[in-house]
Amino acid sequence: MMKDRSGSIRRFEEIIDREVERHPHNQPLLEAFRPLILTRNRLLEELELEENPPFQIDEIRFQGGVPAIEQHPLLLESDPWEDLVRSLIPAFQKGFPDLKEDLDRLEKALSEGVLALSDYFTGNRDGQQNLLSAWGGTLSIAAPRIGFILNSASRIVLEKRALKIAERIQGLKWEKGYCPICGSFPSLAVIGEKIGERRLHCSRCGHLWRFSRVVCPYCEYEGQEGMDFFLIEERPQEAAFTCDSCQRYLVTLYRVSDLHDRDLDVSALGLTHIDVIMQEKNFAPMTVTDWNVF
Ligand SMILES: [Zn+2]
Ligand SMILES: [Zn+2]
Repeated sequence: MMKDRSGSIRRFEEIIDREVERHPHNQPLLEAFRPLILTRNRLLEELELEENPPFQIDEIRFQGGVPAIEQHPLLLESDPWEDLVRSLIPAFQKGFPDLKEDLDRLEKALSEGVLALSDYFTGNRDGQQNLLSAWGGTLSIAAPRIGFILNSASRIVLEKRALKIAERIQGLKWEKGYCPICGSFPSLAVIGEKIGERRLHCSRCGHLWRFSRVVCPYCEYEGQEGMDFFLIEERPQEAAFTCDSCQRYLVTLYRVSDLHDRDLDVSALGLTHIDVIMQEKNFAPMTVTDWNVF
């Protein structure tokens, strides 16, 4: 068991090393996220979650576009939020030295038990924003920084549950550009070398799903005109899909054959030069991630 665990950490080390070789200009960003990615994957393996109530969704509603999270709670009050956040703090300390004082204050607040963390994770979007501002004020930490840390914890729980749910929804039809599990828009698309289908990757829960190549995932526009494919010269695998109808872009790995050697969050970190170019062209990302807003 221990051997397997260190094996998978080594695999992630190698994936990040390869991405640094591919995109040396993005080395600082990749190195900043390295401890977080390694810790996240270690916690993902160690974590054991209660399934209460047992997973259940209405297949008709699901196939009509209502994601799993809107039908079944995926973040529970009983999940080990404090342990997860505490376990992530050393990774943030290592990768993001600028956060040091913020992390010290957060750790102190956790010890004093003044943050009801589960309120954040089980709350709706507005509730979460309100809590982040309130906690930001009490702890003197910028709200987005607390969000960055807390959302890294929810990613682990969501990914753990997403892996199980993926098996349950396998045979069901899903024709939406947002994630069938957590409802977020994709952070990256992948087009395979042989089959040529497009798959969308969700950075909030780690899920990957198939989606039409001729429809915009964000606004569902479908047409001959108004959608484009922006390619980087001399790097045929790196591209961005753009839609004039909603002015959004989606970074796309084009004709990849080595998907098993990749981690799509690591790939997205290596491709931020495309985010810069697309945002200079006044396109907005389909989803905001911890790394694509400049
Ligand atoms: Zn998702
Ligand atoms: Zn669109």
